[in-house]
Amino acid sequence: MIKNNIIYSSGTDWLFNLKKAEGCYLWDTGDNKLLDFTSGWNVANLGWNNQEILHAVVDQTRKNANSSLDTSEQVQIALAKRLISYLPKGLDTVGKATGGSDANEEALKTARAYTKRTKLIGFRETYHGQTFADMTVGYGPEYTKAIAPMLPDVIQLNFPQTYRTDKSGGDILEEFEKELERVLSKEDVAAIITEAGILTGWGSTYVAPKGYLTVVRKLTKKYGTLLILDEVGTGFSRCGKLFAMEIENVTPDIVTIAKGFSNGVAAIGAMVTTNEIAEKTWQDTNLTATFGWVPLGCAAALKIMEIHNRDKVWEKSAKDGKYMMKILREELSNNPYVGDVRGVGMELGIDLVKDKNSKEKNTDFLKHVLEKTRKNGLFLNSDGESNIQLMPPLIINRQDLNRGLEILVDVIQKS
Ligand code: PMP
Repeated sequence: MIKNNIIYSSGTDWLFNLKKAEGCYLWDTGDNKLLDFTSGWNVANLGWNNQEILHAVVDQTRKNANSSLDTSEQVQIALAKRLISYLPKGLDTVGKATGGSDANEEALKTARAYTKRTKLIGFRETYHGQTFADMTVGYGPEYTKAIAPMLPDVIQLNFPQTYRTDKSGGDILEEFEKELERVLSKEDVAAIITEAGILTGWGSTYVAPKGYLTVVRKLTKKYGTLLILDEVGTGFSRCGKLFAMEIENVTPDIVTIAKGFSNGVAAIGAMVTTNEIAEKTWQDTNLTATFGWVPLGCAAALKIMEIHNRDKVWEKSAKDGKYMMKILREELSNNPYVGDVRGVGMELGIDLVKDKNSKEKNTDFLKHVLEKTRKNGLFLNSDGESNIQLMPPLIINRQDLNRGLEILVDVIQKS
């Protein structure tokens, strides 16, 4: 839709005129104060307008705010060093990017150039960004008719998720492994792009069985395919670890990050790969982003990495996520319109259905819950069909967390 002369990709009425944002709260221009359970979709993980981050940015403006493609700025060098120090050994070379779309585009190009193969694997109904390549790997053809043709040589698989199926997690994983091996064994796939076992980008909050990423890593290694891990949503303590790859101790060939990397203060992202892959590809991939890693964004990201590490934000995320899951399952499991509560860390989904057996999506009820909770002071995101995706700022205190959960449970139970 178009509002205030600006194009927005969503037609829903969650959009409102933001006046200010602080910690876990948002205020609109009518001075309505809302408790935020979205973090701007996994962006403001350390809270809105986090003062420590803002001070770091202001300090940087005093030192230097500009960089260019032809200069290497001190804060850029410092950030690359710090970022690498928090990633598994080997992931030591950074492609500068302005956000998640950019970083994933860089990753897909790098994979083709390195492997000299053309095929790319993505999963249906996953979000990796807004470029043609990013949309081709995640969007089904029904969503891209108006802008087709999309990128050639993309294979889409179904994400092996555990909800809306009668099969056990073990069976789902086994079937997925067979299917993936069938595709990869032709040894012509350059890369597979995936999130680390939970879909954060689409709004479905689908979760894969335990062991998913391990299987993907094993088979990609076996058949010479690169593993691109999109940590744009799962990273920066959202899933109970600094990066979700740590859950199964999997090291991808390429990891992409954005969103929580700047906490929303500046447009910044990164593609991180091995020196070996970067050395063999950089001449051919054009990883140029004029505004990639501007010093103010780097100063924010540098401080953010420091805060996550200093405060072990992931530990709080894991603890609060468990608590949320417990409360929501206790309170909502018996509700006839709640199909499922699932998630990883502080990324939780509640699926609203017409009845528990058919699990038919209940879009009307979803709309009602979103409207009512908002009226009652809680701001939520959804997939627009049936799933509410909960992503509170990770710095939320227990009192605010309880308040948000109470508003949500109350609206669902009393409707
Ligand atoms: N990957 C995932 C998992 C995302 O959620 C998003 C954004 N929603 C992107 C990539 C794209 O990031 P950006 O909007 O910064 O381009």
